[in-house]
Amino acid sequence: MSLAGKTAIVTGGSRGIGKAIVQALARAGAKVAFTYHSNSLAAESLLSELKGEGHEVLAYQADAADKAAADKLVEEIVEKWGGIYVLVNNAGIIKDGLLATMSFEQWQAVINANLNSVFNYSQAVTRPMMSARQGRIINISSVAANFGNSGQANYAASKGGIEGFTRCLANELGRRGITCNAIAPGFISTDMTEAIRNAAEDTIKKQIPARRLGNPEDIANAVLFFASEGASYVTGNVLTVDGGLTLGAGM
Ligand code: NAP
Repeated sequence: MSLAGKTAIVTGGSRGIGKAIVQALARAGAKVAFTYHSNSLAAESLLSELKGEGHEVLAYQADAADKAAADKLVEEIVEKWGGIYVLVNNAGIIKDGLLATMSFEQWQAVINANLNSVFNYSQAVTRPMMSARQGRIINISSVAANFGNSGQANYAASKGGIEGFTRCLANELGRRGITCNAIAPGFISTDMTEAIRNAAEDTIKKQIPARRLGNPEDIANAVLFFASEGASYVTGNVLTVDGGLTLGAGM
């Protein structure tokens, strides 16, 4: 699949799932700008890897929850590259805790990074995508949106919000040639899941029909599909990529 001549923005693209998405889009031929929050070493290492392969890639330190920064970054990219074809809203964090003891800061930090960020970048790209009458907005949700995990009220609320937002945007933008879809990953091996993997990897694997944790590339492959020309009639969907975890058929 080729994205030659296309442009993309990926939030939280320096590590984990976002990194695999940046690599996949760049290797498919797209020019890719990605953001990160604070780990500049990881961002620089990805930049040099992809530039070394001859790809056009840019990295920006920008808190995805910062609306002004999102507007500025999108404006810069449109000026530099002439437009934006793909937006992947991937940036996300967890700050788990039972509601009884969850601080408002814990709640707000997760809503800001995971959900307000999706508003910020989606709104910023809407105008240039509408002018071009084409675009792909791809939001990274989670199976946690529907699981009801104890200790994840903030995270599940942010991801449930993303899924409702995705359907509304698909409806609003469909007539402009823009699709909006979400991906709900299951258990993926990244820094985010390191603690729980260390504590219970074997038990988790038994609950997954595929009998393995997901790789960031499993999610990047789904992003490539939604970004592709062939997916132009697919919009408003949430694609679960979890090795069958949510079938509840494991063990
Ligand atoms: P990760 O390994 O912790 O990486 C998170 C990435 O997001 C990093 O590049 C980080 O930048 C960036 N980031 C975090 N907060 C940010 C902010 N406020 N502004 C800009 N960038 C920010 O996480 P991951 O596992 O790859 O998760 C990626 C997405 O997939 C998240 O939305 C997550 O909720 C979702 N997801 C993950 C899983 C899983 O099992 N891993 C399952 C379902 C859904 P720095 O490097 O600078 O910190």
